[in-house]
Amino acid sequence: MKTAEHETEFSAPSDLLTSNVRSYCRGMLPLTAKLEPWITELCQSTTLPALVQEHGSPLNVLNTEPFQRNVTALYEVAQAQGIDYDVYFARKANKCLAFVEAAKELGCGVDTASIQELQQVLASQIPGEKIICTAAVKSEALLRLCLESGVTIAVDHLDELMQTVILAEQVNRRADIAVRLSGFQHQGRKLPSRFGFDIDEILPLLQDLQHDSPHSLQYLNLIGVHFHLDGYCQAQRLSAIQRLLPLIDELRSREFPVRFLDIGGGFPMRYLESETEWDTFWQTHRRALLGEEDSLTYRNHGLGLTPVEGTLIGKPNCYPYYQSLVQADWFEEILTSESEAGTIADSLRKRQIQLRCEPGRSVLDGCGFTAARVEYRKQQPSGDWLIGLSMNRTQCRTSSDDFLVDPFLIPATEDSLLPRTPAGISGYLVGAYCTESELLSLRKLQFPHGVGIGDLIVFPNTAGYFMHFLESRSHQFPLARNVIYDNITDQAELDLVSH
Ligand SMILES: *Cc1c(COP(=O)(O)O)cnc(C)c1O
Repeated sequence: MKTAEHETEFSAPSDLLTSNVRSYCRGMLPLTAKLEPWITELCQSTTLPALVQEHGSPLNVLNTEPFQRNVTALYEVAQAQGIDYDVYFARKANKCLAFVEAAKELGCGVDTASIQELQQVLASQIPGEKIICTAAVKSEALLRLCLESGVTIAVDHLDELMQTVILAEQVNRRADIAVRLSGFQHQGRKLPSRFGFDIDEILPLLQDLQHDSPHSLQYLNLIGVHFHLDGYCQAQRLSAIQRLLPLIDELRSREFPVRFLDIGGGFPMRYLESETEWDTFWQTHRRALLGEEDSLTYRNHGLGLTPVEGTLIGKPNCYPYYQSLVQADWFEEILTSESEAGTIADSLRKRQIQLRCEPGRSVLDGCGFTAARVEYRKQQPSGDWLIGLSMNRTQCRTSSDDFLVDPFLIPATEDSLLPRTPAGISGYLVGAYCTESELLSLRKLQFPHGVGIGDLIVFPNTAGYFMHFLESRSHQFPLARNVIYDNITDQAELDLVSH
């Protein structure tokens, strides 16, 4: 599988399949992807072109082994700290059912964000107590399904709470609920959120309920307190935990059977190998926006920054693709942070409270990539090239302005009708939606060996959000297929998720 012998005029250089997968495409200022062995190996084999040929472009290729490793590492940290702990994988970060199956095998829980996600997880025979529903908007049908299946409802506001009570009374069951809380004080200011009950209002609210309609509380088991904060700031999470520990004591003293503290997701991860590259990229980009350097982005796109009278305003609208403390190490630092007379772990153990979390993106680190076929190359009057792919930008996209990780280029092993471009060209990847802004890379890329039709571009590490969160079917394009690749057998199977 791992060799090829093509020596015709327009085919790729013969060292193709043995050379570094990263050597055919580099950012103008490189942002070198962290590599996962199964991804590098697959990108160097003839299996990948065959898969794209079979399933179409773009193709999402996934592997659940890194997921198991990432989740297990979290349990190991918790175990070393002697705390009761459970992971609820936030499956909205990737729709493939393979991860639901992997979660089931690991025995971890799943966080669901819609009735469809919940129905699929229930159909996978994951028990209700291993499922939490944190959907931002919960229909009556969703609340009913949670109740009937014993799924914990993360209650966001009073309407949801009262609706849950009414439905619970109708089916004559108690609802397991966690209250979602927000508005924590952090460094002298209140963290704003559209989600959750305000931390300062929850006790008075529950007190009023106990006083005015004790009957309604008969239908609620308040078994958890929950937060999920925007961003990845560890200190903000510590502020929230510190605030919730005494709240848990207070709730328990009022006979609420609180069993767990759920700190949500937002565990940071790292896409890049080098902090220096990341810092250099941003320093140079800033100078370029001020006209002091050649531009690194399409039409000098700011990536969140805007030059105004010689300075830059705004902040980078991009995921922090390089972060030094990530995943299990970051989590360990939370548990060993100071709290009361000891550490957070001590405070949790003392209360015999279970800690839960809902990581999505970070446990999908290393679990997938997106491959798309080059269909054309054209040079702009500026000299930059546009490389057209059979793919649109919703197929590798989050709220980040750009995917700040260098893609790989895999030269076609089949001969093409047209010659490769000259070596050493640079430019941008563009997609199939008919708008001027349809770029797949705002960052300028260099192609030391040129680009040929039929080459593949691989966006590495896209399993967390990038491949699914915003994908759309405009122009009637079908959604990308998702194959689960087994690197031991070198076989790939379509994931069972239908859309
Ligand atoms: C999206 C979400 C998560 C997962 O967040 P990540 O950043 O992917 O870890 C967890 N919990 C809730 C409530 C969410 O909305």
